[in-house]
Amino acid sequence: MFASYYLIMKNLFLGLINLCFLGCHSNVPTIPAKDTISTVIQDTVIQKVDSVVSKPTMPDTAHVIYLTFDDGPLIGTENVIEVMNNFALPATMFMVGKHTQADKEMQNSFLMAYNDNLLQVSSHSYSHANNRYRLFYQNPQGVLEDFNKSAALLHLQNKDARLPGRNTWRVGSKQRNDPAAHSQQAADLLKENGYSLFGWDIEWQHYDNGEPIQTVSQLLRMITNAIQDSSRCFTPHKLVLLSHDQMFAKKENKEKLIELINGLKAKGYRFELIKNYPRG
Ligand SMILES: [Zn+2]
Repeated sequence: MFASYYLIMKNLFLGLINLCFLGCHSNVPTIPAKDTISTVIQDTVIQKVDSVVSKPTMPDTAHVIYLTFDDGPLIGTENVIEVMNNFALPATMFMVGKHTQADKEMQNSFLMAYNDNLLQVSSHSYSHANNRYRLFYQNPQGVLEDFNKSAALLHLQNKDARLPGRNTWRVGSKQRNDPAAHSQQAADLLKENGYSLFGWDIEWQHYDNGEPIQTVSQLLRMITNAIQDSSRCFTPHKLVLLSHDQMFAKKENKEKLIELINGLKAKGYRFELIKNYPRG
């Protein structure tokens, strides 16, 4: 009696299984084989561990613009200061010590920038290499003394700096050398003496008479392409823009700077001082 009851139940059970395979196969989720399950669990654990480990080092993809103006104080410096103040936005001015000694007007322009809380004044050397770059960089000790002289003269509170005529970087543990030779040893010596060197990702170029070369829309396109591409900036998505004070001496070129900043603001980029540049 018990045996026949067992047979009936067994057949019923097998029948149900067959019915399931025939009738509702497409709705049955595929159960992975045991080995696969353990692999899935392992992968999940590894992913979880990875996510815990990688969280603090998640890349910072915020798009940030560092406006930098070189060679001041010069004609054009006060227009730059005025524009940045009207926007209430930060900018970094890499200034040349010798230019502050040109006359009273240049001294005043320097002081305006130096005392402006929106602006960071940093060193672009004392002599600007007297525009004889090869000769200047052949003497690394002389380069260091030139920067120290400017830092003392201008009472600079920071050791952020930009080499004259060379797109050379020494920031934290990262570095890049200008393709033109002769600045590497000087850059290393400055770094050993506490300086951080900032090159640039894009330059708003100008002719000898100070006229900007790229139109504002060309420049905006260049900036947008570079800031979105993780390989185009020294630090991904953090774009350092170089321009020169003398470009903005004329009213119509000051308007171009305003137009550029309006364009950058419209894209939602954040503006920062070089002192806030990532230094990892
Ligand atoms: Zn310069």
